Amino acid sequence: MEPPRLIAFSTPLVSTWVLDETHRVLFDAGDGVAALLDGKVHRVQYVALTHSHRDHIAGLPQLLNLRGGVASLQGFPVEVVHPEGCNAVAAFGRFLAQFDQSTTGQTRWHGMRHDDRLDLGDNRFLRACETRHVPGTADGRPRCLGYQIGRVVTRLRPELRGLPQEELDRLRTERGRAAITCVEEDVLLTVSGDTLPLHPEALAGTRFLLHECTFLDEDAEQRAEARARGHEHSCLSEVLEVAQAAGVERLALYHISRRYTDEQILRTVRAACARREIRARVSVVLPGRVCYDVFAQVVWPMKG
Ligand SMILES: [Zn+2]
Ligand SMILES: [Zn+2]
Repeated sequence: MEPPRLIAFSTPLVSTWVLDETHRVLFDAGDGVAALLDGKVHRVQYVALTHSHRDHIAGLPQLLNLRGGVASLQGFPVEVVHPEGCNAVAAFGRFLAQFDQSTTGQTRWHGMRHDDRLDLGDNRFLRACETRHVPGTADGRPRCLGYQIGRVVTRLRPELRGLPQEELDRLRTERGRAAITCVEEDVLLTVSGDTLPLHPEALAGTRFLLHECTFLDEDAEQRAEARARGHEHSCLSEVLEVAQAAGVERLALYHISRRYTDEQILRTVRAACARREIRARVSVVLPGRVCYDVFAQVVWPMKG
């Protein structure tokens, strides 16, 4: 199966957004998203906010203003999902409702908790998953989330797999189709948002993983600074370990600190993948520019 087509821009502290063109979901809406997406802004049907740091939400007014007008004409307002415990998003939502009732005011907002889901149609769903970037509220509502896109598929019951076709035909005729099939879920894509490394169990079955990788090394000083501000992030070795343990087919790294040069990033990622004999194909979203078709920018394994 081909990975979804992702367009991304991600420079920590400045702006982060990722458009899944295949599923019409925009993950986060950092500053400049509307300008950089240009005509593709009309591809956005859902916005999934991972948390309310300004570099992940500052582009919302312009995006919803552009998209909202067209959407309301078509009768499909943009739907924004966000962690339920984000007071800043709630305040932003109230402001945008007043700001322009015919565009931004048309937006539908959904506060999400872990495992909450939104139906995307076509047997696809968006599901919120637990992340560890900022602490939740005192009463247990999350202030940060990752997201998964999955599909519901009807398959032959496991115990019947391998039976000859004539036998299956007979069972279907005798008992009906529903008796020989079951409904299963395929997780296609997981987007981590800002977080400490996700747990491999949470990634079980994920084919394609977009994971933050703020630090290339376990730089105690930088990490300690972020931690002191209450923000947890991942480093390269941890992300590779998780991706390998979860057995993902494709891994894309984003949210990489601007303190590294492009050459440093590519060299370090390739060396670490070689050292760990990473089986997944690995892509990188370099900071400071738009990356078109993220999973197509393979940096590991190296060709030739
Ligand atoms: Zn961030
Ligand atoms: Zn953040």
